[in-house]
Amino acid sequence: MAQGLASMNVQDIHVVVTSNFAKTVAQMTGNTSYTADRGGGMVAAKTVSGPEGSVVVVNYDVLPSRPPADVQRILAHEGGHVLIDARSTEETSGNRDSTETDWEWCLKCLGAQAIVELRIERSLAELGYAAVEGTEPSSVEHSLLITNVEVVNAVIDPASDDPAHLQAALLTTLNHVTKMLAYIAAPLAAGQSIFSPALLSLEGRANWVDYVAPTWQQRTAFWSSIPSVTEPIPVRPWRTTLRDSAMLEQALLSNFGFAFSTLSDGRYGFYRTSSDDTFTQRLQRACKQTDTQPE
Ligand SMILES: [Zn+2]
Repeated sequence: MAQGLASMNVQDIHVVVTSNFAKTVAQMTGNTSYTADRGGGMVAAKTVSGPEGSVVVVNYDVLPSRPPADVQRILAHEGGHVLIDARSTEETSGNRDSTETDWEWCLKCLGAQAIVELRIERSLAELGYAAVEGTEPSSVEHSLLITNVEVVNAVIDPASDDPAHLQAALLTTLNHVTKMLAYIAAPLAAGQSIFSPALLSLEGRANWVDYVAPTWQQRTAFWSSIPSVTEPIPVRPWRTTLRDSAMLEQALLSNFGFAFSTLSDGRYGFYRTSSDDTFTQRLQRACKQTDTQPE
């Protein structure tokens, strides 16, 4: 563990290893609904920042199944969060513009979280750590399938007659996708080529083309311009990065087939913009990949 933190030049940090991980994080963050389950996987560690600095909380339950190199990597990743926390000016909070609507702020926060992961993972790639799990083609294939299923389900779901429900579902999916893209893009930004959509199945490629490809070049060019976590970003360029990032995520949402629109009285709407034909094709593709029949 100490090696992982040391590789990111993090010293004198408080590490808690607990078999009561979710409850400990919930208590320390005040987020009572915190859980460690992430779609079949478990969160291995979380860095919690407080007035007395950062504490890295490690989930003891996942350690026995991991080789030592994995444990070192987990701690190196959390070391990146510690570096960002310690600088305190490279987070999202405090960077909301006065003219920003709630939805613009929401996309900015979502984009910023992905950038934090990107910057940390880029450092790890530069230090020679192996790519994080979830970036191998079979995992990307699965993530894209889940993306397609979630987007289609959000539209079919009767509860989505309420636009707030539709919006929440889409933003949850968007959040997962941007993080996955950050993990894929980080080694690319460090000059290593580990992923190509050509490694996906026919349907996997179709999902990639549908959801990711239209903004991928723009995303990798923008993200490659952001330094890794070991290099501080001054406040002004960081704010510009956050604004650009909100626009990029807006473009991704548009690709998914949805858009926000601010009304003259300051309220906003959330709309589906893609055609029924597009969604029929997505549904058919999801059924083909999951071997089910449309109802
Ligand atoms: Zn992280």
